[in-house]
Amino acid sequence: MEKIIVSACLLGEKVRYDGTGKSIEGIIGLSRKYELIPVCPEVLGGLPIPRPRSEIREGRVFAIDGTDVTDEFRSGAGRVLKLCLESGATKAILKARSPSCGKGRIYDGTFGGILIEGNGIACDLLLENGIEVYDENDYWRLNL
Ligand code: SF4
Repeated sequence: MEKIIVSACLLGEKVRYDGTGKSIEGIIGLSRKYELIPVCPEVLGGLPIPRPRSEIREGRVFAIDGTDVTDEFRSGAGRVLKLCLESGATKAILKARSPSCGKGRIYDGTFGGILIEGNGIACDLLLENGIEVYDENDYWRLNL
């Protein structure tokens, strides 16, 4: 069965900054066709649950309380890439708009709810290394 890396929160794991999950039934249902490997880059990078909300500003990641959490985000992203390489997964389904997992659109770093073009830290690293990245808006392509 083909393996796919999936943001753990999309499978209902309560790993988000506020201690919740964000399960999407359609993604959970892909387990009929794929082996789903749950990952949370922020937790893999050593950050706790719950944790302050973070956003990317000028290439670095800051929590809303001003703490620079770039190292933790990069470390978690590296561990997700390692998991892809070790498991042979060439695809990932990541949570939209997250500073780790977001693809194409992320918040602008002001914590004002403004979206700009860009990728989360883990998404960016996976894309740079040739992993196909989907999110909850286009994962349905994997079910064709
Ligand atoms: S880092 Fe990714 S997997 Fe973890 S809670 Fe945020 S969006 Fe979900």
